[in-house]
Amino acid sequence: MRKKIVAGNWKMNTSAEQGEELAAAVAERSGETDGVLLIVAPPFTHLTKVADKLKGSAVQLSAQNCASEKSGAYTGEVSAAMIAGTGAKYCILGHSERREYYGETDATLNRKLTLCLAESLTPIFCVGEKLNERESGAHFDVVRTQLSNTLFNLSDEDFAKTIIAYEPVWAIGTGKTASPEQAQEMHAFIRKTLFEKFGDKALETAILYGGSCNPGNARALFSNSDVDGGLIGGASLKVDDFIAIAKSF
Ligand code: PEP
Repeated sequence: MRKKIVAGNWKMNTSAEQGEELAAAVAERSGETDGVLLIVAPPFTHLTKVADKLKGSAVQLSAQNCASEKSGAYTGEVSAAMIAGTGAKYCILGHSERREYYGETDATLNRKLTLCLAESLTPIFCVGEKLNERESGAHFDVVRTQLSNTLFNLSDEDFAKTIIAYEPVWAIGTGKTASPEQAQEMHAFIRKTLFEKFGDKALETAILYGGSCNPGNARALFSNSDVDGGLIGGASLKVDDFIAIAKSF
């Protein structure tokens, strides 16, 4: 049985104090979401403090990114090993904001994948098409290429550790959500594409939906057979919304 997962991407939001409060509130209410793996991804600066607040709960900690190099003279970067040292067990990679604003390419992402996996960090690997790509009907090709240029390079064993997030770029932070049908169609396509490469292991891979998911639309999205949960941006900053989404299976 595939895991049900709801992960909160806090992005560059919350002061350290707000982050601690939010983490403590999520930890406190995590008992309401039986059978769902909750993950929070605060900014780097909050990881250690949030790890402290999550102690004793089942809520897991993730980073939002990691350096593409192992260590050394890379001013301003944070390595996979440093992230693992905070107690985080997950790392979001390939978010469209990283691809778009920081020029992350598939080559960069391949390095980050390798570094994360070497530190036993589970990648939450994001793929998704832009609006013009969907409108021109190129969305399946775009996502297939994103997968084949990156995850296809993993060993079967490393692939089996990876979580995927389908995040149509046109739905992120826009208030526009993919319809449940659009989400299911793409999730099934992703699973089929992965199945062709990795066989049965793809049947165990969690594929999360991300893009303006909220308590009002989560149930319809999560009720699809290939949608195993959500990567949540804006709504993860409010504990009520985050928990309500996690109760939407
Ligand atoms: C995200 O950035 O991963 C995301 C899904 O954002 P939002 O929920 O705000 O659209």
